Amino acid sequence: MSPGSDPSVAVGDLCERILDGAVPDARDLEALLLAGEEAPAVFAAAREARARHSGNTVFLYGFVYFSTYCRNACAFCFYRADNDECPRYRKTSDEVVAICRDLAASGVVLLDLTMGEDPLIHDEPGNAALVDLVAAVAGETGAPVMISPGVLGEEALRALRVAGADWYALYQETHTPDLYARLRVGQPFAERVQARAAARRAGLLVEDGLLTGIGDSPADRARSIVAMREAGWEQVRVMTFVPQAGTPLAGVRSGGDANELLTIAAMRLAMPERLIPASLDVDGIAGLERRLQAGANVVTSIVPPTVGLAGVSQAELDIDEGYRTVHGVLPHLERLGLRPAGVDEYRERMGALHATLGGAGA
Ligand code: SF4
Repeated sequence: MSPGSDPSVAVGDLCERILDGAVPDARDLEALLLAGEEAPAVFAAAREARARHSGNTVFLYGFVYFSTYCRNACAFCFYRADNDECPRYRKTSDEVVAICRDLAASGVVLLDLTMGEDPLIHDEPGNAALVDLVAAVAGETGAPVMISPGVLGEEALRALRVAGADWYALYQETHTPDLYARLRVGQPFAERVQARAAARRAGLLVEDGLLTGIGDSPADRARSIVAMREAGWEQVRVMTFVPQAGTPLAGVRSGGDANELLTIAAMRLAMPERLIPASLDVDGIAGLERRLQAGANVVTSIVPPTVGLAGVSQAELDIDEGYRTVHGVLPHLERLGLRPAGVDEYRERMGALHATLGGAGA
């Protein structure tokens, strides 16, 4: 489907055709991403698409960044190996399990265990510590587990699946290779693509994602949306770049979250059945409602206060204050007429996504 060569084609008409079942191509997606003053029509259509596939249900994810050590040098990242200004810590297995137990009790439906490519854990033969950690968290909480440990081989991914992991998150950040090379410095583009494919073969659900505000164009973002749709990943996310002290991109001025919001909406219209997060890790709790109003149906980066955990893009924002908690999120859901799902309902949704998409794409 394409709006053709007529530049005056209305974004509203395009949204209606998509809601009627047309599949947007890259040009259509670019038109949505460039909606400008017509953005409210795109957001309304995205909410309608979400309502048809998810009703008013939202899934809340707990985030446990358990090691902030990393051997890599991503240009955008606070935790890149050579940055002396970021907090470094490595939580013990007992600490992580206790944090996860409390998070699960607070009402999250998934525990996202994230680390940098910490050589001590990442390069261990057999990844025993990581496998044991996943088994302990899954066993103690009974909640679904996502792992975000960087690039791993298929054998390790299979071991993590057996240990109880349900999801593998690995973000490309952009699907435009030359931009990728400037962002994920020294990390082969194809290696990340292959790792996600290996995760699917290992029986894991997969999340991919992109970053905006780092020199990407609407065409780049449209390309990413098409790539993620074709690969069939069950969860897809976009986040706005937040400049980080001590990094090569520290001086870049943030352009605000307008592009992120339109990208969430375009992803929802292109992939109505998928899980699409509203991250608390960009603008904190103040940015939650506008991301949900753009069509997101997951809230990510719920971080418990007082246990010394950091966020990724926003290391501290709203954490100690307790705003990035289930308790802090619920009033915002209620105000928008949305409701949080329980674990059983979430597992049902995971099963349906796996049945629909598990054999798709890569
Ligand atoms: S984005 Fe991830 S892999 Fe890259 S430097 Fe940061 S923690 Fe390491």
